[in-house]
Amino acid sequence: MTRAEDGRRERDLPGPESNPRLGLTGFVSDTPASGLAALGPEDRELLDQAVAVLAGLRLAVLTGAGLSTDSGIPDYRGPQSVPRNPMTYQQFVGDEALRRRYWARNHVGWRHLRRADPNAGHAAVATLEQRGLLTGLITQNVDKLHSSAGSVNVIDLHGTFDRVVCLQCASVFPRSRIAEILEDLNPGYLERASDAGDVAPDADADVDDTGDFQMAPCPVCGGMLKPDFVYFGENVPKARVAEAYAMVDAAGALLVAGSSLTVMSGLRFVRHAFKAGKPVVIINRGWTRGDEFASLKIETGVSEALTYLAELLPDLPPQ
Ligand SMILES: [Zn+2]
Repeated sequence: MTRAEDGRRERDLPGPESNPRLGLTGFVSDTPASGLAALGPEDRELLDQAVAVLAGLRLAVLTGAGLSTDSGIPDYRGPQSVPRNPMTYQQFVGDEALRRRYWARNHVGWRHLRRADPNAGHAAVATLEQRGLLTGLITQNVDKLHSSAGSVNVIDLHGTFDRVVCLQCASVFPRSRIAEILEDLNPGYLERASDAGDVAPDADADVDDTGDFQMAPCPVCGGMLKPDFVYFGENVPKARVAEAYAMVDAAGALLVAGSSLTVMSGLRFVRHAFKAGKPVVIINRGWTRGDEFASLKIETGVSEALTYLAELLPDLPPQ
């Protein structure tokens, strides 16, 4: 479903566009007008080193929340991020009050993600793929902004915000269909919650007063629904992990952008590339758990750095 198709129901609802100071994402954008202008001389020197390390190699790219902060989607773990305690899978399935609170916040928050626009970093990764420089892209982000920017070979490692799965019959539904059911079950809720100002990367908005929120049962079997992304305490599906390993195996180097690699689901690909003797370049503001495996670590703006690499990495020689 496109944004245009399902935008009809939303037109009557209060949204970020009602505030002219805010962008489409509902947040004041601090994306630099010109990505490269923001890079200092030390940044450029390190990025030139990255070009030297990566030139002539097909790359697997691994991205995390730091890439989407320029699209107005807050990072859990970046240096400026607000500390959060993301819900675990066990809490979600085991505690009805927490699950109700989660769905209420997600009901508000997923709309912000749907309105978010890809930034220069997403565009740069798509350019790298179009130039034939990538074996593919593994992202820990559930916001689908890489796909919006034109990336094709994308593994959504932690799932996507726009799908909902039934834990009983395994049916999968578009999030927009569940949104319609939730709106019917909770008339006026979105209007009351429209002042929610903060959305985490998994569509978790800050909303008070969630106690009477009515959750939607599975339209097929009446079972428990869950946003189709991987929670803390939950494993990435094995087939998806295997596909991602294959992407790294087919590559000559691994480029990590905007992830602190705090969770093993992403870190294992860094270890895998390192063990295979492949260069690992990490671009991230702040420490990452993969730093000890990196051939080169660059602490600068992720979207600017990717833009620089997309411009300066040379074409691969014809095979
Ligand atoms: Zn079901």
